[in-house]
Amino acid sequence: MFAGQEQQAELQLQQALYNQEQHTVGEVYVIGAGPGAADLLTFRALRLMQQADVVVYDRLVSPEILDLVRRDAEKIYVGKERDHHTVPQENINTLLAELAKSGKRVARLKGGDPFIFGRGGEEIETLMQQGVQFQVVPGITAASGCASYAGIPLTHRDHAQSVTFVTGHLKNDSINLNWTQLAAANQTVVVYMGLVGIEKICNALIAHGSPSDFPIALVQEGTMQNQRVITGTLSTLPQLIANAQIKPPTLIIIGTVVTLHKQLNWFQTKGN
Ligand code: SAH
Repeated sequence: MFAGQEQQAELQLQQALYNQEQHTVGEVYVIGAGPGAADLLTFRALRLMQQADVVVYDRLVSPEILDLVRRDAEKIYVGKERDHHTVPQENINTLLAELAKSGKRVARLKGGDPFIFGRGGEEIETLMQQGVQFQVVPGITAASGCASYAGIPLTHRDHAQSVTFVTGHLKNDSINLNWTQLAAANQTVVVYMGLVGIEKICNALIAHGSPSDFPIALVQEGTMQNQRVITGTLSTLPQLIANAQIKPPTLIIIGTVVTLHKQLNWFQTKGN
Protein backbone atom coordinates (compact mmCIF):
# COMPACT_ATOMS: atom_id res chain seq x y z
CA MET A 1 0.00 0.00 0.00
CA PHE A 2 1.32 3.49 -0.86
CA ALA A 3 1.75 5.98 1.93
CA GLY A 4 -1.12 8.12 0.58
CA GLN A 5 -3.51 5.17 0.47
CA GLU A 6 -2.57 4.15 3.98
CA GLN A 7 -3.26 7.63 5.22
CA GLN A 8 -6.62 7.67 3.46
CA ALA A 9 -7.63 4.30 4.92
CA GLU A 10 -6.70 5.52 8.39
CA LEU A 11 -8.79 8.65 7.83
CA GLN A 12 -11.77 6.59 6.75
CA LEU A 13 -11.46 4.40 9.81
CA GLN A 14 -11.33 7.44 12.10
CA GLN A 15 -14.38 8.87 10.38
CA ALA A 16 -16.31 5.61 10.78
CA LEU A 17 -15.46 5.43 14.49
CA TYR A 18 -16.46 9.06 14.96
CA ASN A 19 -19.78 8.45 13.24
CA GLN A 20 -20.47 5.45 15.39
CA GLU A 21 -19.77 7.28 18.65
CA GLN A 22 -21.33 10.64 17.92
CA HIS A 23 -24.16 9.90 15.58
CA THR A 24 -25.90 6.73 16.62
CA VAL A 25 -28.61 6.26 14.05
CA GLY A 26 -32.06 5.84 15.52
CA GLU A 27 -34.55 3.31 14.28
CA VAL A 28 -38.19 2.35 14.79
CA TYR A 29 -39.43 -1.15 15.53
CA VAL A 30 -43.12 -1.39 14.72
CA ILE A 31 -44.03 -4.34 16.91
CA GLY A 32 -47.20 -6.39 17.09
CA ALA A 33 -47.62 -7.23 20.78
CA GLY A 34 -50.29 -9.88 20.25
CA PRO A 35 -53.77 -10.12 21.79
CA GLY A 36 -52.87 -9.72 25.45
CA ALA A 37 -51.20 -12.68 27.14
CA ALA A 38 -47.52 -11.79 27.49
CA ASP A 39 -46.25 -15.22 26.48
CA LEU A 40 -47.93 -14.81 23.09
CA LEU A 41 -45.30 -12.22 22.14
CA THR A 42 -42.85 -13.34 19.50
CA PHE A 43 -39.25 -13.87 20.50
CA ARG A 44 -38.22 -11.09 18.13
CA ALA A 45 -40.73 -8.67 19.68
CA LEU A 46 -39.33 -9.35 23.13
CA ARG A 47 -35.71 -8.93 22.00
CA LEU A 48 -36.39 -5.57 20.35
CA MET A 49 -38.50 -4.39 23.33
CA GLN A 50 -35.48 -4.99 25.52
CA GLN A 51 -33.18 -3.01 23.24
CA ALA A 52 -35.40 0.04 22.75
CA ASP A 53 -34.63 3.37 24.45
CA VAL A 54 -38.22 4.60 24.10
CA VAL A 55 -41.51 2.73 23.96
CA VAL A 56 -44.54 4.31 22.30
CA TYR A 57 -47.58 2.20 23.15
CA ASP A 58 -51.33 1.87 22.61
CA ARG A 59 -54.25 1.21 24.93
CA LEU A 60 -54.46 -2.43 23.85
CA VAL A 61 -50.96 -3.26 25.06
CA SER A 62 -51.46 -5.07 28.36
CA PRO A 63 -49.58 -4.07 31.57
CA GLU A 64 -47.89 -7.49 31.73
CA ILE A 65 -46.39 -6.83 28.30
CA LEU A 66 -45.26 -3.32 29.21
CA ASP A 67 -43.47 -4.86 32.18
CA LEU A 68 -41.17 -6.61 29.73
CA VAL A 69 -39.64 -3.50 28.14
CA ARG A 70 -36.16 -2.43 29.17
CA ARG A 71 -36.30 -1.17 32.77
CA ASP A 72 -34.92 2.29 32.01
CA ALA A 73 -36.80 2.82 28.74
CA GLU A 74 -38.93 5.93 28.48
CA LYS A 75 -42.63 5.07 28.05
CA ILE A 76 -44.97 7.24 26.00
CA TYR A 77 -48.71 6.47 25.93
CA VAL A 78 -50.55 7.40 22.75
CA GLY A 79 -53.57 5.14 23.30
CA LYS A 80 -56.80 5.48 21.46
CA GLU A 81 -60.28 5.13 22.75
CA ARG A 82 -63.45 5.12 20.71
CA ASP A 83 -64.17 8.60 19.37
CA HIS A 84 -61.44 9.96 21.60
CA HIS A 85 -58.04 9.78 20.05
CA THR A 86 -55.57 10.59 22.80
CA VAL A 87 -52.97 11.55 20.22
CA PRO A 88 -53.98 12.06 16.56
CA GLN A 89 -52.44 9.54 14.17
CA GLU A 90 -50.44 12.20 12.27
CA ASN A 91 -48.82 13.29 15.52
CA ILE A 92 -47.90 9.68 16.34
CA ASN A 93 -46.31 9.31 12.90
CA THR A 94 -44.24 12.47 13.38
CA LEU A 95 -43.34 11.58 16.97
CA LEU A 96 -41.87 8.25 15.85
CA ALA A 97 -39.82 9.94 13.14
CA GLU A 98 -38.54 12.68 15.47
CA LEU A 99 -37.54 10.24 18.21
CA ALA A 100 -35.62 8.10 15.75
CA LYS A 101 -33.93 11.13 14.22
CA SER A 102 -32.68 12.14 17.66
CA GLY A 103 -30.78 8.86 17.68
CA LYS A 104 -33.19 6.74 19.73
CA ARG A 105 -34.21 3.16 19.18
CA VAL A 106 -37.98 3.34 19.35
CA ALA A 107 -40.30 0.41 20.02
CA ARG A 108 -43.74 1.20 18.63
CA LEU A 109 -45.88 -1.34 20.51
CA LYS A 110 -49.28 -2.11 19.05
CA GLY A 111 -51.97 -4.62 20.00
CA GLY A 112 -52.26 -7.75 17.85
CA ASP A 113 -50.62 -7.38 14.45
CA PRO A 114 -49.54 -3.94 13.17
CA PHE A 115 -50.93 -4.58 9.69
CA ILE A 116 -54.40 -5.76 10.73
CA PHE A 117 -56.58 -2.78 11.64
CA GLY A 118 -53.47 -1.36 13.26
CA ARG A 119 -52.55 1.61 11.04
CA GLY A 120 -49.03 0.21 10.84
CA GLY A 121 -48.98 1.04 7.15
CA GLU A 122 -49.53 4.74 7.79
CA GLU A 123 -46.77 4.84 10.38
CA ILE A 124 -44.14 3.28 8.20
CA GLU A 125 -45.19 5.44 5.25
CA THR A 126 -44.14 8.52 7.21
CA LEU A 127 -40.92 6.85 8.35
CA MET A 128 -40.11 5.87 4.78
CA GLN A 129 -40.78 9.43 3.54
CA GLN A 130 -38.50 10.86 6.20
CA GLY A 131 -35.71 8.39 5.58
CA VAL A 132 -35.96 6.77 9.02
CA GLN A 133 -34.90 3.15 9.35
CA PHE A 134 -37.55 0.77 10.61
CA GLN A 135 -38.66 -2.82 10.77
CA VAL A 136 -42.08 -4.42 11.28
CA VAL A 137 -42.58 -7.35 13.64
CA PRO A 138 -45.78 -9.33 13.06
CA GLY A 139 -47.93 -10.23 16.04
CA ILE A 140 -50.73 -12.68 16.76
CA THR A 141 -53.86 -10.86 15.66
CA ALA A 142 -56.98 -10.83 17.86
CA ALA A 143 -58.81 -13.19 15.48
CA SER A 144 -56.17 -15.91 15.88
CA GLY A 145 -55.74 -15.36 19.60
CA CYS A 146 -59.46 -15.26 20.44
CA ALA A 147 -60.33 -18.16 18.15
CA SER A 148 -57.66 -20.42 19.63
CA TYR A 149 -58.42 -19.56 23.24
CA ALA A 150 -62.18 -19.87 22.72
CA GLY A 151 -61.90 -23.25 20.99
CA ILE A 152 -63.47 -21.89 17.80
CA PRO A 153 -61.40 -22.93 14.76
CA LEU A 154 -61.68 -20.19 12.11
CA THR A 155 -61.70 -22.69 9.26
CA HIS A 156 -62.87 -26.29 9.43
CA ARG A 157 -63.44 -28.86 6.71
CA ASP A 158 -67.07 -29.32 7.74
CA HIS A 159 -67.90 -25.66 8.34
CA ALA A 160 -65.85 -22.94 6.69
CA GLN A 161 -63.61 -22.85 3.64
CA SER A 162 -62.71 -19.22 4.06
CA VAL A 163 -62.41 -16.58 6.73
CA THR A 164 -62.86 -12.82 6.39
CA PHE A 165 -61.72 -10.12 8.82
CA VAL A 166 -63.84 -6.96 8.80
CA THR A 167 -64.09 -3.83 10.88
CA GLY A 168 -67.45 -3.10 12.47
CA HIS A 169 -66.50 0.47 13.28
CA LEU A 170 -69.42 2.83 12.80
CA LYS A 171 -68.99 5.78 10.47
CA ASN A 172 -71.83 8.30 10.57
CA ASP A 173 -73.84 5.71 12.45
CA SER A 174 -73.58 3.05 9.75
CA ILE A 175 -71.28 0.19 8.79
CA ASN A 176 -70.26 0.04 5.19
CA LEU A 177 -69.66 -3.63 4.35
CA ASN A 178 -70.61 -6.01 1.57
CA TRP A 179 -73.39 -7.78 3.49
CA THR A 180 -74.44 -10.07 0.64
CA GLN A 181 -70.93 -11.47 0.52
CA LEU A 182 -70.70 -11.79 4.31
CA ALA A 183 -74.07 -13.57 4.55
CA ALA A 184 -72.97 -16.37 2.18
CA ALA A 185 -72.59 -19.90 3.58
CA ASN A 186 -69.46 -21.96 4.37
CA GLN A 187 -67.33 -19.16 5.71
CA THR A 188 -66.37 -17.49 8.98
CA VAL A 189 -66.59 -13.74 9.49
CA VAL A 190 -64.56 -12.08 12.21
CA VAL A 191 -65.57 -8.57 13.23
CA TYR A 192 -63.05 -6.29 14.92
CA MET A 193 -64.38 -3.21 16.74
CA GLY A 194 -67.94 -4.51 16.41
CA LEU A 195 -69.41 -4.22 19.91
CA VAL A 196 -71.19 -0.89 19.49
CA GLY A 197 -72.60 -1.89 16.11
CA ILE A 198 -73.52 -5.49 17.03
CA GLU A 199 -77.26 -5.04 16.56
CA LYS A 200 -76.78 -3.37 13.17
CA ILE A 201 -74.43 -6.18 12.11
CA CYS A 202 -76.86 -8.96 13.10
CA ASN A 203 -79.81 -7.21 11.44
CA ALA A 204 -77.90 -6.52 8.23
CA LEU A 205 -76.83 -10.16 7.92
CA ILE A 206 -80.39 -11.39 8.45
CA ALA A 207 -81.67 -8.85 5.91
CA HIS A 208 -79.15 -10.23 3.40
CA GLY A 209 -80.08 -13.88 3.77
CA SER A 210 -78.45 -15.30 6.93
CA PRO A 211 -80.82 -17.45 9.03
CA SER A 212 -81.83 -15.62 12.21
CA ASP A 213 -80.64 -18.64 14.24
CA PHE A 214 -77.16 -18.47 12.67
CA PRO A 215 -74.38 -18.97 15.30
CA ILE A 216 -72.36 -15.98 16.54
CA ALA A 217 -69.94 -15.52 19.45
CA LEU A 218 -68.51 -12.59 21.31
CA VAL A 219 -65.08 -13.03 22.90
CA GLN A 220 -64.22 -10.53 25.60
CA GLU A 221 -60.55 -9.98 26.60
CA GLY A 222 -59.42 -12.94 24.53
CA THR A 223 -56.34 -14.90 25.72
CA MET A 224 -56.40 -13.16 29.08
CA GLN A 225 -57.38 -14.47 32.51
CA ASN A 226 -60.69 -12.60 32.33
CA GLN A 227 -61.62 -14.03 28.94
CA ARG A 228 -65.36 -14.56 28.47
CA VAL A 229 -67.11 -16.18 25.54
CA ILE A 230 -70.78 -15.52 24.94
CA THR A 231 -72.48 -17.52 22.21
CA GLY A 232 -75.91 -17.08 20.69
CA THR A 233 -77.61 -16.50 17.37
CA LEU A 234 -77.95 -13.45 15.14
CA SER A 235 -81.33 -12.79 16.74
CA THR A 236 -80.38 -13.46 20.39
CA LEU A 237 -76.81 -12.18 20.84
CA PRO A 238 -77.46 -8.42 20.93
CA GLN A 239 -79.82 -8.87 23.89
CA LEU A 240 -77.54 -11.37 25.66
CA ILE A 241 -74.73 -8.84 25.42
CA ALA A 242 -76.83 -5.94 26.58
CA ASN A 243 -77.41 -7.86 29.83
CA ALA A 244 -73.85 -9.09 30.28
CA GLN A 245 -71.79 -6.04 31.37
CA ILE A 246 -69.26 -6.45 28.64
CA LYS A 247 -65.78 -4.96 28.93
CA PRO A 248 -63.54 -4.16 25.95
CA PRO A 249 -61.77 -5.38 23.97
CA THR A 250 -64.23 -7.72 22.29
CA LEU A 251 -64.19 -9.67 19.06
CA ILE A 252 -67.15 -11.14 17.19
CA ILE A 253 -67.00 -14.46 15.36
CA ILE A 254 -69.85 -15.43 13.01
CA GLY A 255 -70.25 -18.85 11.42
CA THR A 256 -71.20 -22.44 12.18
CA VAL A 257 -67.67 -22.97 13.59
CA VAL A 258 -69.04 -21.22 16.68
CA THR A 259 -71.04 -24.39 17.51
CA LEU A 260 -67.70 -26.15 18.16
CA HIS A 261 -66.94 -23.92 21.13
CA LYS A 262 -68.99 -26.00 23.56
CA GLN A 263 -66.98 -29.08 22.77
CA LEU A 264 -63.53 -27.58 22.12
CA ASN A 265 -63.36 -24.95 24.84
CA TRP A 266 -60.06 -25.80 26.56
CA PHE A 267 -58.83 -22.57 28.13
CA GLN A 268 -59.39 -22.37 31.86
CA THR A 269 -60.04 -18.80 32.97
CA LYS A 270 -60.54 -17.45 36.49
CA GLY A 271 -64.30 -17.68 36.03
CA ASN A 272 -64.54 -21.41 35.16
N1 SAH B 1 -54.11 -4.74 15.37
C1 SAH B 1 -55.03 -5.40 16.26
C2 SAH B 1 -56.45 -4.90 16.09
C3 SAH B 1 -56.63 -3.45 16.48
S1 SAH B 1 -58.30 -2.93 16.33
C4 SAH B 1 -54.97 -6.91 16.01
O1 SAH B 1 -54.33 -7.35 15.06
O2 SAH B 1 -55.54 -7.64 16.82
C5 SAH B 1 -58.87 -3.16 17.96
C6 SAH B 1 -59.87 -4.29 18.04
O3 SAH B 1 -59.21 -5.54 18.08
C7 SAH B 1 -60.72 -4.27 19.27
O4 SAH B 1 -61.79 -3.37 19.16
C8 SAH B 1 -61.20 -5.71 19.31
O5 SAH B 1 -62.24 -5.91 18.39
C9 SAH B 1 -59.99 -6.46 18.81
N2 SAH B 1 -59.17 -7.03 19.91
C10 SAH B 1 -57.88 -6.77 20.14
N3 SAH B 1 -57.43 -7.50 21.19
C11 SAH B 1 -58.46 -8.24 21.61
C12 SAH B 1 -58.63 -9.20 22.65
N4 SAH B 1 -57.64 -9.55 23.47
N5 SAH B 1 -59.85 -9.77 22.80
C13 SAH B 1 -60.88 -9.44 21.98
N6 SAH B 1 -60.77 -8.55 20.99
C14 SAH B 1 -59.58 -7.95 20.78
